[in-house]
This record gives sequence, structure tokens and C-alpha cells, in this order.
Amino acid sequence: MAGYEVVPLHAFSDNYIWTIRDAGHAAVVDPGDAQPVLDYLAREKLTLVAILNTHHHADHVGGNAALLARAPVPVYGPRDERIPEVTERLGDGQRFVLPHFNIEMEALEIPGHTRSHIAFHGGGMLFCGDTLFAVGCGRLFEGTPRQMHDSLSRLMRLPDGTRVYCGHEYTLSNIRFAKAADPNNAALQELEEKARKQRDQNLPTLPSTIGQEKATNPFVRVGEPAVIASANRFAGKALNDPVSVLAAIREWKNSF
Ligand SMILES: [Zn+2]
Repeated sequence: MAGYEVVPLHAFSDNYIWTIRDAGHAAVVDPGDAQPVLDYLAREKLTLVAILNTHHHADHVGGNAALLARAPVPVYGPRDERIPEVTERLGDGQRFVLPHFNIEMEALEIPGHTRSHIAFHGGGMLFCGDTLFAVGCGRLFEGTPRQMHDSLSRLMRLPDGTRVYCGHEYTLSNIRFAKAADPNNAALQELEEKARKQRDQNLPTLPSTIGQEKATNPFVRVGEPAVIASANRFAGKALNDPVSVLAAIREWKNSF
């Protein structure tokens, strides 16, 4: 059994600050706001040992400076000067050991939502920020459909049991769209029931798993006939490659 657990801290309306913790220490992923982290550390009497950042958006890095003012810890993040607090800038495939927890982590460059977005993979976990969501993917603010497709495909090659910790609680609204894009998908119906119960009790629907995403996420199911047919309907023409299908359903979802 792992000697740590992963706890979601809530920030803003639907962000999660994933916190790896044991009895005395904690590392946080994407602290967009310092206050929930400071409150939690104080309440649980934990010492912060590291910060991980997946991408430069303020709702993921906005708490860095205030946390570092209390505890100068290493900050692992992408090679992007837009996050000035990062002390360990990681390129694709670069590995490091998470301080105190001794979890070997690997950085994966997964552009699409932003051009320098990375994920952290290790210990059977994936922290993927705003690139992969349960039953969805991030908006293409700086990247192309091809980049997003390549990034998602890469994540789908991780082991099916990998636990997927996303940056936001979007699952139910993503399912609403996915039912339109991938009708008659039984796995999707099943997941909706489960997620609805979780949200009714104010529980997170996360982590997901890579296996669950393969079964339910239309943005990784762009080779499935049902998803292709929906994309064709939206585009008003026959799309004949997965990147065009992803581009069409991403555009469709933006206005859904
Ligand atoms: Zn973002």
C-alpha cells in the first residue's frame, strides 16, 4: 500500500488542487489559490514539500507566490517563463523524484490547451491539468486540434488502471455533451448514474482512469463510427481523419 493519499482541495467554482499527503507532509498540484492550501496545511499540521504546475493559467498557478513566501519549496513545471516561480523546468520525458514521498514522476509534454502544458505521471497517477478531463478535453487556447489529438492519444497509451486527476469538476456537463456526440454508449449511461450520485453527495467524480476515458470520452473515441457520424453531421460533410473529427466535436462542444 502506498504511504500517502491524494486529497482534492476546492478552489474557485470548480478547480481541484490535488494534494498528495501523508501524516506530516504534502505536495500540491496546481494551487490556483493559496488560501485553501494554507488552511488545509494548518488544520492537518502538514509541511509543504513541493508544488507542481501543469500550465500557466492563473487558476492553476495563482497561489504559487503566497505559498512560497511561507515555505521555499521546489516548484516543478513546464519550460515557460509565464510561470516565474518554477524552479525545476521540465522537458518531455524528464524524470524527478517527488521530495519526501519518493514517487518517481515523469513530465509529459501535452500541448493543445496551451502550447507548453505538461502532465505529471508516476506512482500509477496522472495529473493532467486542463488537457484531459473526465469525458472531455480542454479548450484549444494555444494549440491545434492535431496537437490535442496527439496529446490525448499519448495519454491513452498509459496503463488502463492509471488514476487520472484532472484540474476541474466538469464530468456531468461533459457527459451531457458526450451523450449527444456518442449516443447509445452504455458505458456513458452507467458513468452518468455514478457521477450524479457522487455530485449529489458533493463528492468529486475524480479520479477517472485511462480505461474509463477510453470507454466514455468522445475526444479520445474519434475513431468510433458513432462519434464520426455525429461529427459529420455537425460539420455537414464527411470527415475522414481523427484530427478533423476531434476539431469538429471540439467546435461543437464550444457552442453546446
Ligand atoms: Zn487552463
